[in-house]
Amino acid sequence: MQIMNRENLFGKNIDELIEVAGKAGVPAFTARQIADWLYRKRVNSIEEMTNLPMKARKLLAEEYDFGLYPPENVSVSTDGTRKYLFRVLNDRYIETAFIPGKDHDTLCVSTQAGCKMGCVFCMTGKQGFQGNLTSGEILNQLKSLPEYETIHNIVYMGMGEPLDNLQEVLKSIEILTSPWGFGWSPTRITVSTIGIRDKLGDFLEKCRANLAISLHSPFEEERLRLIPAQKKNPLPDILDIIRKADINSQRRVSFEYILFRGVNDSPAHVKELARILNKIKCRINLIRFHAVPGIEYESPSHEEVVKFRDELNRKGFIATIRASRGEDIKAACGLLSTMQLNKSGNK
Ligand code: SF4
Repeated sequence: MQIMNRENLFGKNIDELIEVAGKAGVPAFTARQIADWLYRKRVNSIEEMTNLPMKARKLLAEEYDFGLYPPENVSVSTDGTRKYLFRVLNDRYIETAFIPGKDHDTLCVSTQAGCKMGCVFCMTGKQGFQGNLTSGEILNQLKSLPEYETIHNIVYMGMGEPLDNLQEVLKSIEILTSPWGFGWSPTRITVSTIGIRDKLGDFLEKCRANLAISLHSPFEEERLRLIPAQKKNPLPDILDIIRKADINSQRRVSFEYILFRGVNDSPAHVKELARILNKIKCRINLIRFHAVPGIEYESPSHEEVVKFRDELNRKGFIATIRASRGEDIKAACGLLSTMQLNKSGNK
């Protein structure tokens, strides 16, 4: 569990580390050495930063924690998917999914405890909002895992709406992609959002990570029933921002589409999708809805999902079906943490 009463070094960017170095009485270039220990090396204590003068290490250790902390629990699926539970904000829980792949492993991280968006098909939405994660808490989900070295891609697709915590999300991406940080290419990072109108432009301007928009219906009224936050963030405005943004060939834009049987899986939906996504260079990821306790929507059959994909492909889109992973360990976003909150009486 994370100790909350001292500041953490992990999650600070280079400007903040320069300040830290100043307070410890060491030259500004030491900030890069500290960043190297934090983001490149496999250590988790200030004492292990052996190229720093002993006195500076002592001063740092008096003021700061390193800031890496392990998950509290892990569930392992028969397909190799692992779902980690981290304790944050003293008594709340977030989920992180490690998804092994044939060619590369992917990590799905949370950006908030709970969520304000209230999507009717999502257990995290049902928890309500409990708090924003810091950049350190976002990146701790990566660096503290035993699988850290094998993770190639990171998706901001776990609990929470990333653009509702934009500042910390951008800071975590800055640390991930900077040469003084993890040094990752932004092409390895995807941020998934319902599309927050006032923040999307900022996101596109300030970072080069891939963008995934949770669409789920091309019809505004219907999307509003699925995603209540659509009311303040109308779909035409979101699509307009994407069309006008300078999307270079390096950045991938995709639309996530959960298929609910008899709700959003008709030929009329294919036709309207083709109309509204016209001239946006994108791919469409289809996700088959899986039954969640207390949520009334039904799953379509695999054949129905394939048919929907083929119709989109015929319209000229690159549409793919995302493989379901970790169903036996309740990998749907928010299920495990809801169970943990119920268990600990913090619902
Ligand atoms: S689907 Fe995403 S945005 Fe919607 S409530 Fe769940 S976590 Fe929030």
